Parts: sequence; C-alpha cells; structure tokens
Amino acid sequence: MTDALRLTRAHFPVTALGPGTRLGIWLQGCPLACPGCVAKDTWDPDGGVTVGVDVLLDDVRRAIEEGGDGVTVSGGEPLEQAEPLAALLRGVRELSANAVTPLDILLYTGYERAELDVSQLATAALADVLITGRYVVTAPTGLIWRGSANQEMHLQTPLGRTRYASYLDYEPAAPPIQIETSPDGDAWWVGVPNKPNTARAIEDGLRALGYRVTSVSWRRPAP
Ligand code: SF4
Repeated sequence: MTDALRLTRAHFPVTALGPGTRLGIWLQGCPLACPGCVAKDTWDPDGGVTVGVDVLLDDVRRAIEEGGDGVTVSGGEPLEQAEPLAALLRGVRELSANAVTPLDILLYTGYERAELDVSQLATAALADVLITGRYVVTAPTGLIWRGSANQEMHLQTPLGRTRYASYLDYEPAAPPIQIETSPDGDAWWVGVPNKPNTARAIEDGLRALGYRVTSVSWRRPAP
C-alpha cells in the first residue's frame, strides 16, 4: 500500500456537510485540542483504521455512480495527513473530470491558512472550498457548516464559487443535522451544531428513543 490514510469513518450519502449528497470522509488524529471539542475520539492518531487511498477512491467511484455531488473531508485534523490526503484529492479530481456532475471537494481544517506548511498549503489548494479555523466554544455562529464564528469559508475554484457563494453568509433557521439508524438500534449523526449543547441534546434524544449512539458525527460529546 503506497498511499494510505488513518480513517475514522467514510459514509455516503452525507447531506449535512456541504450541498447535495456527498461522500463524507473523516480522518483520524488531531493535535489542536480546541477547548470544548466534542470530537475527542478523533484526536488519537493511532485510533481509527488505516485505509488505502485506492480503497477510498473506490468509494468515490460509487458516489459518482449514485449521483453524488461532492466529497467532504473532515476529522480530526485532515491536514495532519497532508501528503496521502493530496493523493486522495488528486484522485477525486481525476474521477470528477469524467463525471456527468463534477464532484466538489469541501475540506475542513482547524488550522488558519497562515499556519500551514508548504505541503499542507499544496493539499489545501486541491479543495474547491476550504473551511479554516479552530472550534471556539465561546463564539457560536448561525452560519451554515461552520462550528464557530471565527471559522472562514474560502471559495478556491470556479466550481467552489458557483456552488457555495450563496452559502457564505447563509444562516439557516437550524443547522442541518443528519441522523442515521440501523435496524438493530444503533444511531449516529452528522452535522455542525451551532450551539455548545446541541451535540449532547441530539445524543440524549436518540438515547431517550432507545438507540445506542455508536459513533462519531462531526462532533461527539466526551464520554
Ligand atoms: S474541534 Fe476539530 S480541530 Fe479542534 S480539537 Fe476538535 S477535532 Fe481538532
């Protein structure tokens, strides 16, 4: 295996992290330790599983076949794995070039652009849209797909500008939240809640309905 990534989860379709239906890829490992982070299960770089870029590109192919609109990469801190992530994003771009509907790439990072090294900058440049900045629990926001008011959405390509310009300042009445359940009673969720207690409220609600909350969304309360 030449290029491989440490992965928390991949899922299709994701509908709460970017426009349309998307392949969601969560990468494992984050050194940033934002106070109030509720995704602590993604911090350990040895957690998750190692997956070849070629395997994830098979997921991308399936997403294209099923009419997907894009790929969202989150974490954890994706740019901690800048070089294999670049291989993945280049592969997405190649596959997208032959798709009827081009896939856009939305990449989350907790870093600011000025903090990125050369390799990380090159990888970040492969995204159509880049959302930067730490999660700041004391700075809630109503802006869609952003966890706190300091986080910035950068539209980096014509495709990104076409698809996301109307979302730059968009504040939905409530943040998009996607809940997935299985017949045996497991549940997990995806989304960027805009209030500090939203994540716990979602999971408490699922438990009250009898579900086991089994895994991560973008954020997850510490046990
Ligand atoms: S909020 Fe995101 S960037 Fe901050 S510590 Fe948690 S996973 Fe890392």
